[in-house]
Amino acid sequence: MPYGGNELTYASPNIEDYTLDHIRYVHLDKGQRGHLVPTQRLGALELLHMVLIQLDIPSLTAFRRVNRRATSIVDLVPQYKAITTHAPVTLWGIFTIGTGRWISCQDLYEKLSTAECESCGDFGGYLYLITCCRVCFLCFTVKADYLPLRQADATRKFGLDRSHLENLPTMKTVPGYYSPREIKLRDRLTLVDYRAARRTGIAIHGSESKMNEHSVHIQAKKLEKYNLRRSKHTAGAANPNPRRPRTEDEFDGYSSNPKRFVAIVRAPFLNPGATSLEWGFHCSACRSHHYNRPLHWRRKFTKDSLKAHIEECGEIVDGKHVRQQLI
Ligand SMILES: [Zn+2]
Ligand SMILES: [Zn+2]
Repeated sequence: MPYGGNELTYASPNIEDYTLDHIRYVHLDKGQRGHLVPTQRLGALELLHMVLIQLDIPSLTAFRRVNRRATSIVDLVPQYKAITTHAPVTLWGIFTIGTGRWISCQDLYEKLSTAECESCGDFGGYLYLITCCRVCFLCFTVKADYLPLRQADATRKFGLDRSHLENLPTMKTVPGYYSPREIKLRDRLTLVDYRAARRTGIAIHGSESKMNEHSVHIQAKKLEKYNLRRSKHTAGAANPNPRRPRTEDEFDGYSSNPKRFVAIVRAPFLNPGATSLEWGFHCSACRSHHYNRPLHWRRKFTKDSLKAHIEECGEIVDGKHVRQQLI
């Protein structure tokens, strides 16, 4: 569909990405009806709002449920109101995968009010809800930072033990179908944020190279132990058949990897200067390009970033970018 009455862009490709928000969700608790009008003076109320938006999301919700007065106070927080009005699925997603402990209402509002992918600067049409980041399709389906890890993989890769994981941002997956290939994820897995785990590993070991050395050393020891147990087993001892320790990463199918979609929801850009929500749009001339940027059908633009894209890749003529010939 053309955007803004022209044929240069279209709103969305005819494809479903099966991100977390595709899974049907229960309606958000909108609280009781007939809210009381708060009686605090405005200054005190604003102060209270400033405190409330810094709370992590479960604490804010718990406060909201205390009584009708608390409900009405929270519902008047402008940032909370904007989130529940325009992007309620982001709150649902955070509750569903259990990452609210690491995210405040202010964090979420700020990411909704930012258009750009934190990684590449393109329009980011999605939020990664373990740490609340705005991302674009091409980044969250390729970069390691947005592939949450099983706890065992996080400890193996970054030389951690279980106690190190306790305070790291962690999520529970929701069983369902994920990725454009609709791959089924059956179990409710516990996954940890890649970046946080890696950062912790580097902090503990002092540097990335020392962390990697430690990880290789531990894996070699585990393999040695496994080989010993295995030789005992094959020699006829009564020991159970040992399981080979994992020494390599799981296969990553990138845009087909369901784990890359379990913490992702589509999210509009709440542009304070605009009258409607912005979802970004695609460039018609990039529609047939499937490999590398700057020409790629998955890229999304705003009016301003489309201008920059056309300057970089050429005017769109008959559905193709045409570079101006220098005379
Ligand atoms: Zn990006
Ligand atoms: Zn283009």
